[in-house]
Amino acid sequence: MRRILVISALILVVIVASGGAWLYVQLRSLDAQQLTDDVYMVTGLGGNVGVLRTEEGAVVVDTMTFRMQGQHIQSRAEALSGGTVRAVINTHYHADHAHGNPGFTLGTPVIATERTRHHLATKSSAYRDEAAQRFLPNTTFEHEHTMTIGGKTIQLLYLGRGHTDGDLVVLFVEDRVIHLGDLFFHDFYPNIDLEAGGSIKAWATTLDRVLELEFDRVIPGHGQIADREAVRAFQRFIQELWQVGEAAAKAGLSLEETLTTVNLQHDSAFGVIAIPLIMRFDRDFVIRRAWEEATGAVKPGS
Ligand SMILES: [Zn+2]
Repeated sequence: MRRILVISALILVVIVASGGAWLYVQLRSLDAQQLTDDVYMVTGLGGNVGVLRTEEGAVVVDTMTFRMQGQHIQSRAEALSGGTVRAVINTHYHADHAHGNPGFTLGTPVIATERTRHHLATKSSAYRDEAAQRFLPNTTFEHEHTMTIGGKTIQLLYLGRGHTDGDLVVLFVEDRVIHLGDLFFHDFYPNIDLEAGGSIKAWATTLDRVLELEFDRVIPGHGQIADREAVRAFQRFIQELWQVGEAAAKAGLSLEETLTTVNLQHDSAFGVIAIPLIMRFDRDFVIRRAWEEATGAVKPGS
Protein backbone atom coordinates (compact mmCIF):
# COMPACT_ATOMS: atom_id res chain seq x y z
CA MET A 1 0.00 0.00 0.00
CA ARG A 2 2.76 2.34 1.02
CA ARG A 3 4.65 1.54 -2.15
CA ILE A 4 1.59 2.37 -4.26
CA LEU A 5 1.28 5.68 -2.45
CA VAL A 6 4.92 6.51 -3.11
CA ILE A 7 4.60 5.61 -6.79
CA SER A 8 1.38 7.65 -7.08
CA ALA A 9 3.08 10.60 -5.44
CA LEU A 10 6.04 10.28 -7.83
CA ILE A 11 3.72 10.14 -10.83
CA LEU A 12 1.94 13.24 -9.57
CA VAL A 13 5.25 15.07 -9.16
CA VAL A 14 6.21 14.17 -12.74
CA ILE A 15 2.82 15.34 -14.06
CA VAL A 16 2.98 18.64 -12.17
CA ALA A 17 6.62 19.18 -13.13
CA SER A 18 6.04 18.47 -16.82
CA GLY A 19 2.91 20.64 -16.77
CA GLY A 20 4.95 23.41 -15.18
CA ALA A 21 7.72 22.96 -17.73
CA TRP A 22 5.17 23.07 -20.56
CA LEU A 23 3.70 26.28 -19.16
CA TYR A 24 7.16 27.80 -18.72
CA VAL A 25 8.03 27.07 -22.35
CA GLN A 26 4.64 28.42 -23.52
CA LEU A 27 5.10 31.63 -21.54
CA ARG A 28 8.51 32.22 -23.08
CA SER A 29 7.62 31.37 -26.66
CA LEU A 30 6.45 34.14 -28.94
CA ASP A 31 6.03 33.98 -32.70
CA ALA A 32 6.11 37.10 -34.86
CA GLN A 33 4.47 37.39 -38.26
CA GLN A 34 5.08 40.40 -40.47
CA LEU A 35 1.99 42.00 -42.04
CA THR A 36 3.50 45.11 -43.64
CA ASP A 37 6.94 46.76 -43.65
CA ASP A 38 6.27 48.07 -40.14
CA VAL A 39 3.50 46.00 -38.54
CA TYR A 40 3.84 42.60 -36.87
CA MET A 41 1.46 40.25 -35.11
CA VAL A 42 3.05 38.49 -32.14
CA THR A 43 1.36 35.34 -30.88
CA GLY A 44 1.75 33.26 -27.72
CA LEU A 45 -0.28 32.16 -24.71
CA GLY A 46 -2.95 34.88 -24.69
CA GLY A 47 -4.50 37.39 -27.04
CA ASN A 48 -2.73 38.45 -30.24
CA VAL A 49 -0.28 41.33 -29.86
CA GLY A 50 0.26 44.04 -32.47
CA VAL A 51 3.64 45.74 -32.86
CA LEU A 52 4.15 48.90 -34.93
CA ARG A 53 7.68 49.92 -35.85
CA THR A 54 8.25 53.66 -36.12
CA GLU A 55 11.34 55.86 -36.57
CA GLU A 56 11.20 56.57 -32.84
CA GLY A 57 10.57 53.14 -31.39
CA ALA A 58 7.68 50.71 -31.10
CA VAL A 59 3.99 50.82 -30.23
CA VAL A 60 2.61 47.64 -28.64
CA VAL A 61 -1.06 46.63 -28.64
CA ASP A 62 -1.94 44.23 -25.79
CA THR A 63 0.42 42.46 -23.40
CA MET A 64 -0.86 38.85 -22.95
CA THR A 65 -1.42 37.20 -19.59
CA PHE A 66 1.63 37.29 -17.33
CA ARG A 67 4.29 39.79 -16.30
CA MET A 68 6.99 37.53 -17.76
CA GLN A 69 5.24 37.62 -21.14
CA GLY A 70 5.13 41.42 -20.94
CA GLN A 71 8.91 41.42 -20.52
CA HIS A 72 9.36 39.16 -23.53
CA ILE A 73 6.95 41.20 -25.65
CA GLN A 74 8.86 44.37 -24.79
CA SER A 75 12.18 42.73 -25.79
CA ARG A 76 10.70 41.40 -29.03
CA ALA A 77 9.12 44.78 -29.90
CA GLU A 78 12.43 46.51 -29.27
CA ALA A 79 14.30 43.99 -31.41
CA LEU A 80 11.77 44.40 -34.24
CA SER A 81 11.76 48.20 -34.09
CA GLY A 82 15.35 48.93 -33.16
CA GLY A 83 14.11 51.37 -30.51
CA THR A 84 12.34 51.46 -27.16
CA VAL A 85 8.63 50.85 -26.58
CA ARG A 86 7.04 54.28 -26.78
CA ALA A 87 3.48 53.27 -25.88
CA VAL A 88 1.47 50.27 -24.74
CA ILE A 89 -2.21 50.03 -25.63
CA ASN A 90 -4.73 47.74 -23.91
CA THR A 91 -7.68 46.88 -26.18
CA HIS A 92 -9.72 45.81 -23.12
CA TYR A 93 -9.34 44.59 -19.55
CA HIS A 94 -9.24 40.79 -19.86
CA ALA A 95 -6.29 39.01 -18.30
CA ASP A 96 -5.03 37.56 -21.58
CA HIS A 97 -4.70 41.06 -23.09
CA ALA A 98 -3.71 43.31 -20.22
CA HIS A 99 -2.02 41.39 -17.43
CA GLY A 100 1.43 41.53 -19.05
CA ASN A 101 1.61 45.32 -18.48
CA PRO A 102 3.81 45.01 -15.33
CA GLY A 103 6.51 43.37 -17.49
CA PHE A 104 7.11 46.68 -19.31
CA THR A 105 9.43 49.44 -18.13
CA LEU A 106 7.75 51.49 -15.42
CA GLY A 107 6.68 54.86 -16.79
CA THR A 108 5.85 53.60 -20.29
CA PRO A 109 2.63 55.32 -21.40
CA VAL A 110 -0.26 52.81 -21.16
CA ILE A 111 -3.37 53.80 -23.07
CA ALA A 112 -6.91 52.43 -22.81
CA THR A 113 -10.50 53.59 -22.63
CA GLU A 114 -11.82 54.91 -19.32
CA ARG A 115 -14.09 51.87 -19.09
CA THR A 116 -11.14 49.51 -19.49
CA ARG A 117 -9.17 51.27 -16.78
CA HIS A 118 -12.25 51.06 -14.54
CA HIS A 119 -12.61 47.31 -15.17
CA LEU A 120 -8.90 46.67 -14.63
CA ALA A 121 -8.92 48.62 -11.37
CA THR A 122 -12.09 46.99 -10.02
CA LYS A 123 -12.24 43.48 -11.50
CA SER A 124 -8.66 42.32 -12.10
CA SER A 125 -6.88 40.37 -9.40
CA ALA A 126 -3.48 41.16 -10.98
CA TYR A 127 -3.94 44.87 -10.22
CA ARG A 128 -4.98 44.61 -6.58
CA ASP A 129 -1.58 45.39 -5.07
CA GLU A 130 -0.08 48.84 -5.15
CA ALA A 131 3.04 47.86 -7.11
CA ALA A 132 0.94 46.49 -9.99
CA GLN A 133 -1.39 49.49 -9.96
CA ARG A 134 1.49 51.60 -11.28
CA PHE A 135 1.05 49.67 -14.56
CA LEU A 136 -2.64 50.48 -14.99
CA PRO A 137 -3.49 52.64 -18.01
CA ASN A 138 -2.20 56.17 -17.33
CA THR A 139 -3.74 57.80 -20.42
CA THR A 140 -7.44 57.21 -20.95
CA PHE A 141 -10.13 58.49 -23.28
CA GLU A 142 -13.81 57.96 -23.95
CA HIS A 143 -14.28 57.96 -27.74
CA GLU A 144 -11.13 58.77 -29.70
CA HIS A 145 -7.42 59.27 -29.17
CA THR A 146 -4.94 59.87 -32.00
CA MET A 147 -1.16 59.68 -31.60
CA THR A 148 1.69 60.47 -33.97
CA ILE A 149 4.94 58.69 -33.19
CA GLY A 150 7.98 58.51 -35.46
CA GLY A 151 6.02 59.53 -38.55
CA LYS A 152 3.18 57.04 -37.92
CA THR A 153 -0.43 57.82 -37.10
CA ILE A 154 -2.12 55.59 -34.56
CA GLN A 155 -5.85 56.07 -34.21
CA LEU A 156 -7.59 54.59 -31.15
CA LEU A 157 -11.36 54.41 -31.29
CA TYR A 158 -14.14 53.26 -29.02
CA LEU A 159 -16.93 52.33 -31.43
CA GLY A 160 -19.56 50.83 -29.15
CA ARG A 161 -20.36 47.83 -27.02
CA GLY A 162 -19.73 44.24 -28.02
CA HIS A 163 -17.26 42.03 -26.21
CA THR A 164 -17.26 44.47 -23.22
CA ASP A 165 -18.30 48.12 -22.92
CA GLY A 166 -14.73 49.39 -23.21
CA ASP A 167 -13.05 47.72 -26.20
CA LEU A 168 -11.00 50.02 -28.35
CA VAL A 169 -9.77 49.32 -31.87
CA VAL A 170 -6.33 50.45 -33.09
CA LEU A 171 -5.87 51.68 -36.64
CA PHE A 172 -2.31 51.91 -37.95
CA VAL A 173 -3.28 54.48 -40.54
CA GLU A 174 -0.31 54.45 -42.97
CA ASP A 175 -0.06 50.64 -42.90
CA ARG A 176 -3.82 50.12 -43.29
CA VAL A 177 -3.81 47.50 -40.54
CA ILE A 178 -6.37 47.37 -37.73
CA HIS A 179 -6.13 45.52 -34.40
CA LEU A 180 -9.68 44.69 -33.34
CA GLY A 181 -8.93 43.03 -30.01
CA ASP A 182 -11.72 40.71 -28.92
CA LEU A 183 -14.37 42.53 -30.93
CA PHE A 184 -13.25 39.98 -33.51
CA PHE A 185 -12.49 36.31 -32.86
CA HIS A 186 -11.31 34.84 -36.15
CA ASP A 187 -12.85 31.37 -36.59
CA PHE A 188 -13.32 30.88 -32.84
CA TYR A 189 -16.39 31.16 -30.62
CA PRO A 190 -16.15 34.53 -28.87
CA ASN A 191 -16.23 35.32 -25.19
CA ILE A 192 -19.14 37.67 -24.46
CA ASP A 193 -18.64 39.57 -21.19
CA LEU A 194 -22.17 40.76 -20.37
CA GLU A 195 -21.05 41.42 -16.80
CA ALA A 196 -18.58 44.05 -18.07
CA GLY A 197 -21.21 45.71 -20.27
CA GLY A 198 -20.74 43.48 -23.32
CA SER A 199 -23.71 43.10 -25.67
CA ILE A 200 -24.47 40.76 -28.55
CA LYS A 201 -27.32 43.07 -29.54
CA ALA A 202 -24.99 46.07 -29.94
CA TRP A 203 -22.01 44.15 -31.33
CA ALA A 204 -23.06 44.06 -35.03
CA THR A 205 -23.57 47.84 -35.11
CA THR A 206 -20.15 48.32 -33.53
CA LEU A 207 -18.69 46.18 -36.33
CA ASP A 208 -20.53 48.35 -38.91
CA ARG A 209 -18.53 51.29 -37.57
CA VAL A 210 -15.33 49.23 -37.77
CA LEU A 211 -16.06 48.41 -41.42
CA GLU A 212 -16.39 52.13 -42.25
CA LEU A 213 -12.67 52.57 -41.47
CA GLU A 214 -9.84 52.39 -44.03
CA PHE A 215 -7.87 49.16 -43.60
CA ASP A 216 -6.89 46.04 -45.52
CA ARG A 217 -5.51 43.63 -42.94
CA VAL A 218 -6.89 42.71 -39.54
CA ILE A 219 -5.29 41.46 -36.33
CA PRO A 220 -8.01 39.63 -34.40
CA GLY A 221 -7.98 39.20 -30.61
CA HIS A 222 -7.68 35.46 -31.24
CA GLY A 223 -7.04 33.50 -34.43
CA GLN A 224 -5.10 34.08 -37.62
CA ILE A 225 -4.52 37.34 -39.48
CA ALA A 226 -7.65 38.26 -41.43
CA ASP A 227 -9.21 40.68 -43.88
CA ARG A 228 -12.40 42.74 -44.17
CA GLU A 229 -14.41 39.81 -45.50
CA ALA A 230 -13.58 37.73 -42.41
CA VAL A 231 -14.86 40.58 -40.20
CA ARG A 232 -18.09 40.63 -42.22
CA ALA A 233 -18.43 36.86 -41.79
CA PHE A 234 -18.00 37.23 -38.02
CA GLN A 235 -20.58 40.02 -38.04
CA ARG A 236 -23.06 37.70 -39.78
CA PHE A 237 -22.47 35.15 -37.01
CA ILE A 238 -23.11 37.79 -34.32
CA GLN A 239 -26.34 38.85 -36.10
CA GLU A 240 -27.51 35.26 -36.32
CA LEU A 241 -26.68 34.67 -32.66
CA TRP A 242 -28.71 37.70 -31.58
CA GLN A 243 -31.68 36.62 -33.73
CA VAL A 244 -31.58 33.21 -32.09
CA GLY A 245 -31.55 34.74 -28.60
CA GLU A 246 -34.37 37.16 -29.40
CA ALA A 247 -36.53 34.42 -30.95
CA ALA A 248 -36.03 32.21 -27.90
CA ALA A 249 -36.96 35.07 -25.56
CA LYS A 250 -40.11 35.91 -27.61
CA ALA A 251 -41.18 32.26 -27.62
CA GLY A 252 -40.61 32.05 -23.87
CA LEU A 253 -38.18 29.16 -24.23
CA SER A 254 -36.14 28.06 -21.24
CA LEU A 255 -32.37 27.97 -21.55
CA GLU A 256 -32.46 24.17 -21.83
CA GLU A 257 -35.09 24.31 -24.59
CA THR A 258 -33.07 26.96 -26.40
CA LEU A 259 -29.87 24.92 -26.23
CA THR A 260 -31.56 21.81 -27.58
CA THR A 261 -33.58 23.45 -30.37
CA VAL A 262 -31.38 26.23 -31.69
CA ASN A 263 -29.51 25.82 -34.94
CA LEU A 264 -26.66 28.14 -35.90
CA GLN A 265 -25.26 28.21 -39.46
CA HIS A 266 -22.44 30.73 -39.38
CA ASP A 267 -20.24 28.97 -36.84
CA SER A 268 -19.43 25.87 -38.88
CA ALA A 269 -15.69 26.67 -39.07
CA PHE A 270 -15.35 27.85 -35.47
CA GLY A 271 -12.91 26.33 -33.02
CA VAL A 272 -13.38 26.16 -29.25
CA ILE A 273 -11.18 28.07 -26.80
CA ALA A 274 -11.02 26.34 -23.42
CA ILE A 275 -9.01 26.08 -20.25
CA PRO A 276 -10.11 22.85 -18.52
CA LEU A 277 -12.30 23.50 -15.44
CA ILE A 278 -12.00 27.27 -15.84
CA MET A 279 -13.74 28.40 -19.01
CA ARG A 280 -14.96 27.14 -22.35
CA PHE A 281 -16.12 29.25 -25.28
CA ASP A 282 -18.16 26.96 -27.50
CA ARG A 283 -21.60 26.81 -29.14
CA ASP A 284 -23.45 26.22 -25.87
CA PHE A 285 -21.63 29.12 -24.27
CA VAL A 286 -22.54 31.67 -26.97
CA ILE A 287 -26.17 30.49 -27.16
CA ARG A 288 -26.47 30.72 -23.36
CA ARG A 289 -25.12 34.28 -23.44
CA ALA A 290 -27.59 35.23 -26.21
CA TRP A 291 -30.48 33.76 -24.20
CA GLU A 292 -29.30 35.53 -21.04
CA GLU A 293 -29.07 38.91 -22.75
CA ALA A 294 -32.30 38.59 -24.74
CA THR A 295 -34.40 37.42 -21.79
CA GLY A 296 -32.80 39.87 -19.37
CA ALA A 297 -31.65 36.98 -17.18
CA VAL A 298 -28.28 38.70 -17.06
CA LYS A 299 -28.35 42.48 -17.09
CA PRO A 300 -25.32 44.16 -18.65
CA GLY A 301 -23.03 44.99 -15.77
CA SER A 302 -20.79 47.94 -15.11
ZN1 LIG B 1 -11.36 39.39 -24.04
